[in-house]
Amino acid sequence: MTLLRIENLTASYGDSQALFGVDLQIAQGEVTALMGRNGMGKTTTVKAICRMIRSEGALTLDGHDLHALPSHKVARKGVGLVPEGRRCFADLTVRENLIAAARPGDWTLRRVTELFPRLGERKGQRAASLSGGEQQMLAIGRALMTNPRLLILDEATEGLAPIVRQEIWAALQLLRQETSVAILLIDKSLKELAAVSDKAVVLERGRTVWAGEMAALTSEISEKYIGV
Ligand code: ATP
Repeated sequence: MTLLRIENLTASYGDSQALFGVDLQIAQGEVTALMGRNGMGKTTTVKAICRMIRSEGALTLDGHDLHALPSHKVARKGVGLVPEGRRCFADLTVRENLIAAARPGDWTLRRVTELFPRLGERKGQRAASLSGGEQQMLAIGRALMTNPRLLILDEATEGLAPIVRQEIWAALQLLRQETSVAILLIDKSLKELAAVSDKAVVLERGRTVWAGEMAALTSEISEKYIGV
C-alpha cells in the first residue's frame, strides 16, 4: 500500500526554483533511498514533505493531502524527521528528550533504549554532553518516540566515526526487518545505503530522473547522476 505519494512536486526559495517535478512513492514498510549529487533537491524534497517550504503538486500521506497541513501537524500525521544537524534539546537529559517527543504507540523509552543501548546507559546525562554519534542516536530515538509511519533521515551518518556509523546502519537494518515503518533515507555512504534500501529515487536538478528497485540501479545510472 502506498504510504507517501509525491507527484510532479515543485518548490522555490523566493524567486529561485529548486524542485521542478519530483515523483516519489513509498509503500508501508519500505526503505527508499533518495539519491543525487549535492544541490539536486533532496533536502528541499524533505522540507516539502514536512511542510517547511511551500510546494505544489501531489503530496499525500496515506491519502491525506499534506499540503493542507501546517508543519507542526505533519508529525501528528505520522512523519518523523531526523533533520540534518541532529537537533535535540541540549539542556534536557536523554530521557527527557525522548519523553518530550513521545506519542502513543509501540515505540517507548524501553524499545528505543533496546535499539540504542548507549542511550539507555546515558539516560540521565544532558544531551549536550553526548558524543556526536550518541546525539544522532538520540535524534533518531526522538523521531521513533513519535511513533511515525514514515521516518525520514537526512544525512544521519554525516561526520560520524566509522564505528558509530555502523551502529546506526545496523539499527536501520533492524527497523527494516522488524517493523513496518517506512523509511526515506538520504546519505552519502552509497554502499550502506544500497545494502539497507529496497528502492531508490534519483534526483537531478530538482527532478526525478530514475526510480526503481535498488537492485536495478545500474553503475551507468550511478555514474551519470550520483557521480560514483
Ligand atoms: P546536499 O546534498 O548538498 O544537501 P540537496 O540535494 O539536499 O543537496 P537541496 O539542499 O535541496 O539539495 O538544494 C536544492 C537547490 O536549492 C540548490 O540549488 C540549493 O542551492 C538551493 N537551496 C537550498 N536551500 C536554499 C535556501 N535556503 N535558499 C535558497 N536556495 C536554497
